[in-house]
Amino acid sequence: MTSLDELPIRDDLRGKKPYGAPQDLVPVRLNVNENTHPIPEDVATDIVRSLARAVLGANRYPDREFTELRTALADYLGHGVTAENIWAANGSNEVLQHVLQAFGGPGRRVLGFPPTYSMHSIIAGGTGTTWVTGERGPDYVLTEADVVGAIRQTRPDVVFLCSPNNPTGTPLDIDVIAAAYDATDGIVLVDEAYAEFASGPSALTLLEGRPRLLVSRTMSKAFAFAGIRLGYLAADPAVIDALRLVRLPYHLSALTQAAAVAALAHADEMLAMVDEIIVQRDRMIEALPALGYEPLPSAANFVLFGGVADPHALFTKLYAEGVLIRDVGIPGHLRVTAGTEAETSIFLDTLARLSGR
Ligand SMILES: *Cc1c(COP(=O)(O)O)cnc(C)c1O
Repeated sequence: MTSLDELPIRDDLRGKKPYGAPQDLVPVRLNVNENTHPIPEDVATDIVRSLARAVLGANRYPDREFTELRTALADYLGHGVTAENIWAANGSNEVLQHVLQAFGGPGRRVLGFPPTYSMHSIIAGGTGTTWVTGERGPDYVLTEADVVGAIRQTRPDVVFLCSPNNPTGTPLDIDVIAAAYDATDGIVLVDEAYAEFASGPSALTLLEGRPRLLVSRTMSKAFAFAGIRLGYLAADPAVIDALRLVRLPYHLSALTQAAAVAALAHADEMLAMVDEIIVQRDRMIEALPALGYEPLPSAANFVLFGGVADPHALFTKLYAEGVLIRDVGIPGHLRVTAGTEAETSIFLDTLARLSGR
């Protein structure tokens, strides 16, 4: 076998690292912000019935326009959104890739505000879009001045705003999003992967009259559906037409469509654990200072905490005890997902023991 370096790979991919959150089967896995509560059995049964019907027709290509799914997603979102406003793909990562294939690409720039979701810059790289960055203020908060200043300075074709932001949990005021929109002629995409955990208004409330605003969501987090791979976006119908130009035909399999439609019919039950997860998130924020750590405010289902003398060492010690959290590469910090009450207890108890409290 030859090595990657010896292959005639694109020059701009040389030396890059793939996304690589560990997937180890330790007892307590709180590292990728999944909903750790299993899918309710009656919903699972309904999904399987729907999959069985889809399998019987699997000799044919699936509905390329995934019309039933788009209607179900529009109903779920509300805010006057209809099926014509909806796009979907195999995870919101693929949705973001479609967005950069259509609106980014070689010779174009996408602006982001690190520390933010690591896939944003990786998808930029994969689509040949130049990743440019702006600064966040104290505690990672983004103000109108920060965003507008960075847009004027970098003149991006696409702006990625993450609300609430991963990995910091920081919410983003919708006035900042509106100001970003007014400051650019380009696309403004708001990644709302964690919107169901946040209490402020969604960027969906800004869609009316803003044809360059895109709001992406996912079924991977609050909706407890990470394994199915379904992300989506709401925007002006013209944007959806642009995304049709770059998607591969039949990109959403009949099984994915059937599973997602069936799950959306049980949205209330699928989201029943969100309030409980918020309780566990707030419990960690309350408990961490007594253990000597500094949690940041979070509007998502995870907590970033500072005051960690050696993040890699603490990560490794927790891992050895069967608790997997995330070293996101921010000096002095680690990130932990809010799991079930039992998982949260194990995390806090183990951390207390390791920290000598
Ligand atoms: C987890 C996450 C996603 C979700 O990706 P999927 O491909 O839908 O699983 C998107 N954006 C952010 C900020 C995330 O943290």
